[in-house]
Amino acid sequence: MDLYEHQARELFEEHGILVPRAEVTDSPKEAREIARRLGGRVVVKAQVKTGGRGKAGGVKLAADPAAAELTARQILGMDIEGHRVGTVMLAQPVDIGTEFYVSYVLDRAAGGFLAIASAEGGMDIEEVAATRPDAVARVPVDPAEGVTSAKAGEIAEAAGLPPQTVDVLVRLWEVLVREDALLVEVNPLVRTRQGQILALDGKVTLDDNARFRQARWGADDTEHDDALEAAAAAKGLNYVKLDGEVGVIGNGAGLVMSTLDVVAGCGARPANFLDIGGGASARIMADGLSVILSDPAVKSVFVNVFGGITACDAVADGIVQALDTVRLTKPLVVRLDGNNAPRGRAILDEHAHPLVQQVTTMDGAARRAAELATTA
Ligand code: GDP
Ligand code: MN
Repeated sequence: MDLYEHQARELFEEHGILVPRAEVTDSPKEAREIARRLGGRVVVKAQVKTGGRGKAGGVKLAADPAAAELTARQILGMDIEGHRVGTVMLAQPVDIGTEFYVSYVLDRAAGGFLAIASAEGGMDIEEVAATRPDAVARVPVDPAEGVTSAKAGEIAEAAGLPPQTVDVLVRLWEVLVREDALLVEVNPLVRTRQGQILALDGKVTLDDNARFRQARWGADDTEHDDALEAAAAAKGLNYVKLDGEVGVIGNGAGLVMSTLDVVAGCGARPANFLDIGGGASARIMADGLSVILSDPAVKSVFVNVFGGITACDAVADGIVQALDTVRLTKPLVVRLDGNNAPRGRAILDEHAHPLVQQVTTMDGAARRAAELATTA
């Protein structure tokens, strides 16, 4: 998950990297108070998890507390590349001498990290990299060795950064390691006119596999902007909303992925990805069905199960019980195969729900679900 700038700023500060004094708020009135505390003149910065805020008008200088209130009112609620601004950070302005760019990023292909640094930081590092690749240094970092002072010296020299940045480069590596980050980026890292090295903006991406160690940040509030995905996540379901009309439930991510392909191959579009995993209990089935059925775009639902450790009769029992609690409003096509498939099919036949039909092959069932969706 990505952190907000103010969270990245907090981490930098904890690791001894100089940052501007700053506070966060969602209220223009409070913005005025904060500006007063910070000495009057402040930079008002939209807190959104996307780049290019400056260009979008999300970073503005305010000359005094009254202007800070006004500016906060303008920026709060703004839309920046599809992200609604819910909070602003007010920061003490910095007298910028030079702007640099530094980052560490996981390089999966190399099985290590990459330090990327440039003496030409500021708003458009992508453009610098595209037009003048020589101005951007790329130095591989061995994760076992990390960034020692010597390594930091090498990075600074390759990028043409002043020697005072070496200490920040070492500390930034500590942020990456201690905080379980896949990316730390500072753009700009500035040298002030007074000669201090300061991190003026920060981006940190945490490794989701380490979330249990990084509980302080809580859940990502921008992860599920889709209401159905949010509802599914609240029920602990592995659900992703897609654009089509055939609801899909399967057991095992691989099977669900191929189910999406087969549905698409039948001329329909899958409405979602939903992997109910190994435990096809009545509750999981009911939760999955209720999320899928509440999607108005769904015209038919395809349940594709290959019985393994959880055998088909248990899945069939789960479906039958789920239909006691969830009112089925759209046709349901079920394909059961694998362990105890005949028993599972018999259970559903016996239940004889008017909207449930069974097809024994995956291709046949997908075709049926697609037909039902496109003729509905
Ligand atoms: P971004 O557009 O999301 O990358 O936002 P930044 O926080 O990096 O700010 C964009 C630009 O605004 C920086 O590159 C600076 O040029 C400018 N800026 C931000 N804060 C200050 C500040 O305190 N003083 C000055 N002079 N400029 C600033
Ligand atoms: Mn920036």
